[in-house]
Order: sequence, then C-alpha cells, then structure tokens
Amino acid sequence: MKKIGVLTSGGDAPGMNAAIRAVVRKGIYHGMEVYGIYNGYQGLMEGKIEKMELGSVGGIIQRGGTTLFSARSEAFKTEEGQARAIEQLNKFGIEGLIVIGGDGSFQGAAKLTAKGFPCIGVPGTIDNDIPGTDFTIGFDTALNTIIEAVDKIRDTATSHERTYVIEVMGRDAGDLALWAGLANGAESVIIPEKDEQFEDVLERLKRGSARGKKHSIIILAEGVGSAIDYGKRIEESTDFETRVTVLGHIQRGGRPTGFDRVLASRLAGKAVDLLREGEAGKMVGIQNNQLVHHDIIDVLKKPHKLDMSLYQLMSELSI
Ligand code: ATP
Repeated sequence: MKKIGVLTSGGDAPGMNAAIRAVVRKGIYHGMEVYGIYNGYQGLMEGKIEKMELGSVGGIIQRGGTTLFSARSEAFKTEEGQARAIEQLNKFGIEGLIVIGGDGSFQGAAKLTAKGFPCIGVPGTIDNDIPGTDFTIGFDTALNTIIEAVDKIRDTATSHERTYVIEVMGRDAGDLALWAGLANGAESVIIPEKDEQFEDVLERLKRGSARGKKHSIIILAEGVGSAIDYGKRIEESTDFETRVTVLGHIQRGGRPTGFDRVLASRLAGKAVDLLREGEAGKMVGIQNNQLVHHDIIDVLKKPHKLDMSLYQLMSELSI
C-alpha cells in the first residue's frame, strides 16, 4: 500500500493530534504518501483532501482538539454518501483509510470496508466507551481535567460546608465519573452501570457529616440524568446546602497528558502497520498494555464494560 488517508470524526478528543502525527510520520517513514482528510466524513465526500508532509504535523503533538477538524455528517450515512466518499478516495489514489474517532465513526469505517475500501479504526473519544480497548485516546486528559476542577470545587465546598453535585461527561458510560470519583475521593458516584440507591447516597452524606466532614462531593455521569435535578432532590430530602456544577466542554479540551500522547502514537502506529500488512476492517486497541486489534464489526456488537471492581473499591474507600 503506497497511499493512505487519515481523518478524525465524531467528538474531538485530546491526543487526536498526536495520532494524526503518528500516522503521517510512520507512513512517510515506510515510504508511503499520507493524505489528511479535513472535517471527517463530510470533508471526505467533498474532497477536502491534502497531501501531508513531515512538517504538516510539526508542533501539534501538544495541542488538544484536532487539526484535521471533525464533523458529524448525516449525508455520509447514506449509500450515496459512502459512494461519493469512495469516489474521492479513488480520485486521489488513496488505497487505505485510518479513521480516528468513536463508535459512530467506526460504523462508517465498517461500511466503507464492506464496500471494498480498507479502513482501520483508532479509538479516540474522552468517553472510554469502546469495547476491545482498555483506554481510548483522550480519556486520561479529560479525567485529569475533571480531577483538577473537582479539587478546586472541593476547596470552596470545604470553606462553606456544602455538598456539591458535579456532572461529568461520558455519554452512556460511567468511566470518567468512576475514575474521577476514585481520584478525587468523592463520597458517591452515580453512573449508568449501577443502580445507586438514593437512600444510600443520603446515608453516606449523613454519616460523613456526623463524623465532622466539612464537604461532600457527588460525581454524576451525564448518562444518568441531570445534576441539577439530582441536587434539588438532595436539598429537598436533607438540610445540606447543595450546589451543582456541570463541567461541560472544558472536559474535551486542553493539552493531552503524556499518557494520551504515548497511547495515541502507539495506536496510530499500529494502525499504519495493519494497513501495510493488508488488514482491513479492524480497530486497534490496548489491552493489558499490549497493542491488539479486533474486527470492527465485532467491536460494534459488544457492549462496553466498565471495571466494576473500581466501583466496589470506591464504595469501600468512601465509607
Ligand atoms: P463520539 O462518541 O466521541 O462523539 P463518534 O464517532 O461516536 O464519536 P458520531 O457522531 O456517532 O461520533 O459519528 C461520527 C460520524 O460517523 C457521523 O457523523 C457519521 O458521518 C458517521 N457515522 C455514524 N454512524 C454511522 C453509520 N451507521 N453508518 C455510516 N456512517 C456513520
């Protein structure tokens, strides 16, 4: 394979630039031409394609977001949209495509592969909700952003003896909330994977207060519902002064952590290797610190599993 393309799709995630850089540099290292496709599948259909050089990806490893930009495209979901995309790839002589994104983006990659165009998926999303990999690119950076924000909120929570409900991202997955809960020493985490009894949450708040705790932090995953509603329920059921913070899109931005930069470089490098070996329709991942690959179709059929031993540990540490 002599010409490959790379695009980013779906929600952006810190570390995507490190992945783009690795595709371009590793491709060129192995004598390939690498083409950057702008604005995800939408840009692919529109032919927003540019040949990348070594210098095209200089100075981006430390930047959040994606320098190839991202987009959501309804038009690409149609047969006609996918045919247009393949037409553009053929026009540039591109023989294989690396898609950096989440599960929606992988649906697109699977469709192109089924139509005979080889694609490899690289999991890039802060949500960590992709089966077949222990970590996705961006999760660690988003987690660290949350940790820093909650540390700050904890200062004011302590000063005013308040209870805080903090809503974090993660779509339908509780990974960010659970890891942040553990790392921030929260009283409770409310996640979609676990039916947390409201009475238990209240009980824990009361126990903490009785032993002189000056603050309480509850971390709620967006997949469960609204932190504002949850905060109201607590205020209505107790006499704890309660505040709510929805962290929002700050979780998606920022310089990628060292972990995410290395992860992105490893996964993207592996994706280039798979194309060189003639593989198609695979997703790269990391499991037990080993690079792995799986059929995208299989990955898309499986539910994401959260490590519930972390939940148990969290419960034991927040008595
Ligand atoms: P994240 O979860 O981080 O937001 P994602 O990749 O899941 O990332 P989506 O918006 O679901 O984000 O998907 C990105 C794009 O992938 C869509 O806008 C669309 O162009 C394409 N896509 C999604 N689902 C399909 C599908 N079933 N068939 C073809 N293309 C799809």
